[in-house]
Amino acid sequence: MGDDAGVRSRVSVAGVSVSVDHYVGGRRLSSPTTFENRSPSDWSTVLAEVSAGDAATADAALTAAAEAFEGWAALGPTGRAPHLRRLADLIDERVADIAAVECVDMGMRHESLRNRVIGRGARNFRAYAELAEQHEERVWSSNGTANRVQRLPAGPAVVITPWNAPFMLATWKLAPALAAGNPVVLKPAEWSPLSASLLADLADEAGLPPGVLNVVQGIGSQIGPPLTSDRRVRRLSFTGSPATARAIGTAAAANIVPFTAELGGKGALVVFADSDLDAAARTAAGQYDDSGQVCLAGTRLLVEASAADDFLARFHARADEHLLGDAHDDATTITPMIHPTHVTRVEGFIERALAAGDKVLRGGHRHVPDGWTGRPEDALWIEPTLIAPASNDSEIVQHEVFGPVLTFQTFVDEDEAIRLANSTAYGLSATLFTGSAERAERVGGALRAGTTWVNCFLVRDLTAPFGGLGISGLGREGGDHALEFHADLKTLQIREDTTT
Ligand code: NAD
Repeated sequence: MGDDAGVRSRVSVAGVSVSVDHYVGGRRLSSPTTFENRSPSDWSTVLAEVSAGDAATADAALTAAAEAFEGWAALGPTGRAPHLRRLADLIDERVADIAAVECVDMGMRHESLRNRVIGRGARNFRAYAELAEQHEERVWSSNGTANRVQRLPAGPAVVITPWNAPFMLATWKLAPALAAGNPVVLKPAEWSPLSASLLADLADEAGLPPGVLNVVQGIGSQIGPPLTSDRRVRRLSFTGSPATARAIGTAAAANIVPFTAELGGKGALVVFADSDLDAAARTAAGQYDDSGQVCLAGTRLLVEASAADDFLARFHARADEHLLGDAHDDATTITPMIHPTHVTRVEGFIERALAAGDKVLRGGHRHVPDGWTGRPEDALWIEPTLIAPASNDSEIVQHEVFGPVLTFQTFVDEDEAIRLANSTAYGLSATLFTGSAERAERVGGALRAGTTWVNCFLVRDLTAPFGGLGISGLGREGGDHALEFHADLKTLQIREDTTT
């Protein structure tokens, strides 16, 4: 790293040194104001005072990205790939540190972070290095001309990420942008900003040219608009809520900039009587993992009426096995929620459901784990909750809660199952359990979702398209789709009798 002018400081989180400043043009940069960062597992303590970026920060980061563009683009896929592979190797080397920080900062289970989630970040960089290298231009002859479709780097990209699974999601979005030749300004969420700062350290150590990866911290409503409305930005890649997507989409429209949005979900989990009910119940109860703060979660349980009692008995037995506790404890399955504001938001959904005549079948209350020594209001758990709605129009059925709250409804036949499953404005994921191969094809094909799993859940192939229908998103990530989004496609046509 260069001489770190303007550095505020680094803090120690779980024994790991983390910068609380921005990373711009290969140097740390601080802002005059800060925002507080706290841990979901110890809300009474301030973890870090993080630099709160503003319009000047956005301008500095975009200047750095714009200056880095030509050199990074000129390297081509094969010149960029070693940088990305070095970064992947460093992530693998530092899994323990990244997992430790992410666990404290976001409250995700340490076991899944160290064994799966952080490693996926390294795989994202390797996969995109390889995909970009392997890409072959389409070449063909027609009308007496040689046609070539070229993928040209587009220019600086702004990547904005949410607070859940922040490290993995950031790498998933950064890797294709960087592999395609676009320098990036990454803005992580203010509720879990620290792992992005570690990633900046690793990019520095990996020797990424200055300005190729910039990380700016800050409150979305403050640094977001100057970042997304700047005319130097050539790609906007966002993961978060539909409400924020509308604001960013407006900025994208103003500058005619391609925009991709991975947004919320309200996935249906459809269970037919002919399915392996135990597997279905286990998967359904697993939707409470991470306190349900998962965009892909199947939160609407739709069960064939003839199997409803049997399913519910198995579901409750599985849900009873959950252990609400600290994210560091490997036995914990339900971790604290990210922020008191979010807990209050989820409680509001439950209160309004009760007021509307929906019936709580289990849970519904705040939970303070045994042995909790902090203030009760700092215990950020809600019991795994199941609600039978009075109507399919109930708010709890139609809106994303993003907490440990599932709904339970029954259907009598395939038509009703499909109608209920497809009845929200969302369309990110759907899950189907059936013992019939024909039904798997028929109903699986009819479920309106970007990804539909049949007799499995959360199985992902990084090369498959990923994204949402309806208000769940715009555009597709994954494999070549993300590389294509980050490229300016150009058709070069040369008359075949052109001589040198
Ligand atoms: P959010 O929309 O509130 O915030 C996301 C990011 O946008 C944050 O970094 C925030 O600071 C920033 N932001 C806020 N206002 C902005 C503005 N005006 N301009 C630019 N940036 C701004 O979302 P969240 O609460 O952090 O995340 C939860 C949501 O994300 C849920 O809806 C969840 O389903 C969704 N999500 C979707 C996926 C997916 O792949 N589809 C993955 C994870 C989370």
